[in-house]
Amino acid sequence: MTPIRTADETTEAAALRDLVDGHVVLPGDDGWDLARQAWNLAVDQQPAAVVFVETAADVAAVVDYARAHGFRVSTQATGHFAGSLEGFEDTILVKTSRMRGLEIDPETRTARAEAGVLWEEVTLAAAEHGLAGLAGSSPDVGVVGYTLGGGVGWLARRYGLAANSVLAVELVTADGRIVRADRETEPELFWAVRGGGGSFGIVTAIEFALYPVAEVYAGILFFPFERAAEVLNAWSAWVEDTPEDVTSAGRLMQFPPIPDVPEPVRGRSFVMVEAAYIGSEAAGAELLRPLRELGPELNTFAMVPASELRFLHMDPPQPVPGAGDGMALAELTPAAVDALVAVAGPGSGSPLLSVELRQLGGAVAVERPEHGAVGHLEAGFALFGVGMALDPEMEAAVKVHAQTVKDALAPWAAPRGYFNFSDRPLDGQSLYPPATYLRLQEIKAAYDPEELFRASHPIRPATT
Ligand SMILES: Cc1cc2nc3c(=O)[nH]c(=O)nc-3n(C[C@H](O)[C@H](O)[C@H](O)COP(=O)(O)OP(=O)(O)OC[C@H]3O[C@@H](n4cnc5c(N)ncnc54)[C@H](O)[C@@H]3O)c2cc1C
Repeated sequence: MTPIRTADETTEAAALRDLVDGHVVLPGDDGWDLARQAWNLAVDQQPAAVVFVETAADVAAVVDYARAHGFRVSTQATGHFAGSLEGFEDTILVKTSRMRGLEIDPETRTARAEAGVLWEEVTLAAAEHGLAGLAGSSPDVGVVGYTLGGGVGWLARRYGLAANSVLAVELVTADGRIVRADRETEPELFWAVRGGGGSFGIVTAIEFALYPVAEVYAGILFFPFERAAEVLNAWSAWVEDTPEDVTSAGRLMQFPPIPDVPEPVRGRSFVMVEAAYIGSEAAGAELLRPLRELGPELNTFAMVPASELRFLHMDPPQPVPGAGDGMALAELTPAAVDALVAVAGPGSGSPLLSVELRQLGGAVAVERPEHGAVGHLEAGFALFGVGMALDPEMEAAVKVHAQTVKDALAPWAAPRGYFNFSDRPLDGQSLYPPATYLRLQEIKAAYDPEELFRASHPIRPATT
């Protein structure tokens, strides 16, 4: 596609080349299409320039330049969440993928990751010390983007949202300052970034807690797709009594007939229960017994290194074109299961490859005074539906159907959606209780009143 920038804008952005150590790519340059590409290949990003920053000083230089020359700034590590961004007019895209410094301190059980670090890198480095971070399902999601939006992973019901394991962030604010925000320094900023997303500055590094989880009992039970209602009902009854050491998901999955998908499931559809249990094999097997007794076609549960959890959900190992959306459910009653199966189950003709329900509750439901903007999620389940979007027609069909699923489940909706599972442009206002949003708006007004940063699910500055 032809870049939509004017020659003047491009000339102006070219001045960035003299200001940063990193790599600046402009419309028309060799490599422009690759530079502007997001992990989600269905999203056509057309910024004024892409800057592959290497240091916090680079980030500050871009911010200063953008402020002085009327540009706005968006930040991506991977572009997993590119579908949630709205427009790139007059916007410089900062890509942090070259900032890959990572330190693990096994004594204090903490990690410090620069802005471009992927979860898989943390997972593997922490595992060498018998430790685990609160990674999500996908190994190549960025640590920072995931964490700023909350972060629900396989250890969530035991250890909570990733945002609340953050100990400090280093970030560049809209006035070009490089600051460290933690409980003592810039406490309001520290509160806001833990769940408020990327509206408040460009994070250059993040420090967070690790947990002593070396092994888990984890796997998937696969049942024929036709048993969707029966299995989801059994799972929703089962989750009511599961301990916090279990985090699970119920899922309707239509595997595409492509070579990347393993032979036994390629081109087939299933209703599945995925789960991770922090405990012994014997206790895990006993916990799973009621679901195993339903007679799955395939059962992969076993003791595995915690680092193997990055494969449990079978997320795509490389960039793909996709579209999807999600919502949070207060509860999953038999009527809700019926409504879901009617629009996403056998015979529905759904173009969604996967519709999953992540079990929340446990530590995800507990609010503590020391937490950030999103301390907990007031919901029983987080739903996400996704499909392939190889062309605009497929993309439109997937988006329409994701909305159909949401509409069908609206009677059971929780008060608010979950930031990271809302993969479409959405104003931040709908994601927070009014008092939380107001506080976020006041912090936005204090740190970025001109809305220099164009983030996913933006927080609008409070007006006086
Ligand atoms: C396959 C897949 C699996 C997923 N699994 C989970 C899961 O298990 N649990 C869960 O909670 N979420 C999950 N998500 C959602 C994921 O957490 C979000 O898409 C997240 O934003 C990805 O972060 P990223 O940095 O990789 O993406 P990017 O698109 O690069 O960034 C997302 C947003 O984060 C902000 N941002 C990124 N870097 C910075 C920075 N340095 N400073 C300031 N702001 C920044 C920006 O607003 C940006 O638009 C999944 C998404 C996908 C596609």
